[in-house]
Amino acid sequence: MTVRRDLLKHIGLGAITSLLASKAAAQPGKSSASKKIRGIVFLVSDGMSPGVLTLAQAFSKQIRKADTTWWQLLQRPDVVNGLMDTASANSLVTDSAAASSSWGSGQRVNNGMINVSPNGRSLEPIAWTLAERGIRTGLVSTASITHATPAGFAAQVKSRDDEQSIARQYLDRVDILLGGGLEFFQASTRNDKQDLPADYRAAGYQVAFDAKTLASSNSQKILGLFAPKHLPFSLDRNHDEKLKEKVPTLAAMATKALQTFLQSEKRFLLQVEGARIDHAAHLNDAAALLHDQLAYDDAAAAIIAMLQGRDDVLVILTSDHGNSNPGLNGMGASYQKSNECFAKVAAIKASFPSMQERLISASPEVLVAYIKETTNVTLRTNEAQAIATSMAGKDVTEWNHLLAKPEGLLAQMLGNHTGIGWTGTVHTSDPTLLTSLGPGASRFHGIVKNSDIHGHLLELLS
Ligand SMILES: [Zn+2]
Repeated sequence: MTVRRDLLKHIGLGAITSLLASKAAAQPGKSSASKKIRGIVFLVSDGMSPGVLTLAQAFSKQIRKADTTWWQLLQRPDVVNGLMDTASANSLVTDSAAASSSWGSGQRVNNGMINVSPNGRSLEPIAWTLAERGIRTGLVSTASITHATPAGFAAQVKSRDDEQSIARQYLDRVDILLGGGLEFFQASTRNDKQDLPADYRAAGYQVAFDAKTLASSNSQKILGLFAPKHLPFSLDRNHDEKLKEKVPTLAAMATKALQTFLQSEKRFLLQVEGARIDHAAHLNDAAALLHDQLAYDDAAAAIIAMLQGRDDVLVILTSDHGNSNPGLNGMGASYQKSNECFAKVAAIKASFPSMQERLISASPEVLVAYIKETTNVTLRTNEAQAIATSMAGKDVTEWNHLLAKPEGLLAQMLGNHTGIGWTGTVHTSDPTLLTSLGPGASRFHGIVKNSDIHGHLLELLS
């Protein structure tokens, strides 16, 4: 009884206050807060399985001696947390095209399509609607800027692969475009030989091809293309001085976009995508994934820092779908070796694709030596043989077919040392994290259907 009374004393007033606060905060519909919203920053950690939150936190503690921003946000009383229900129209497992279209148009579409309904009807992407209302849009990505996630906000194509059309559709509808994908814009690689950077310049955009030009830009409309396709993995960029000079970080691109929008009086919607988290997950590449997740986290931290002292910008962190469900396993007797195993991820110096470039047609001996040099793991001869066989396009014995690829095999072998396991090399049906702060954040609590995001974004900006 005494215990109960003490407990009540301790939680009494605080609990009642927070209950009232959360009830008030949970009121949907147009709140007075929505009237003063100046802009929304929508940060997508593409293909981030829920377990990546924990892995990234452990990795950040290990290499930076600091919590991730997302970890800190989850503990703030003013931050609203929920889960995103991520299915597409035709599958429990969405791809990025259907996921981003659900946010972009408010309707679930079939995988592979961008803002075209299952019966072929055209759906208006949010950037087009906003442009008509004088509200500005920005897309920032570490993928080609014409890739599915940015495109879901601002393009309409039957196939996500039609990136040349997407590059044209952004013109005059999206004010700031920063990422990769030069080959979909430049005349020499476009099928129609049209020089889109010239068209963008003529429409008032400043065009930037390197980090320095972007940093010095004062234009209100910017097209920044920093790689032919996707930007490099952060892990590879961090080990290459030339890449560091050429390619801006996600944080640098995101803050440039936000700074530009805040200089104008107009309202804005800014999507920022850490795209290569998804690509690393498809490759089961733990080191590349975690470095890119931290690069995304840096972008979120920089955005939140820029907005400190303001109460008119909503910030949302989420992901479009899970991917391959990485997790740290209990290693050794009583799991006593898990920490020391996980610590080995930090020693890995290159992404799998950059390793593979060196390993095409390599003998098992060369393969063992190079893997040792880049990961500090010594493969057994039969492991190296299996990877070499798979890289040559021949079948290897692997009962989980999703893992019967060079990267899936290499990840399993490295996982014996790092403790990290994967369920496959593809997207999964898991709900994703949804963390919001700022005006209107209270709408994004509980389980939120991906296609409901669109209505909230439009209402909050109206
Ligand atoms: Zn993917």
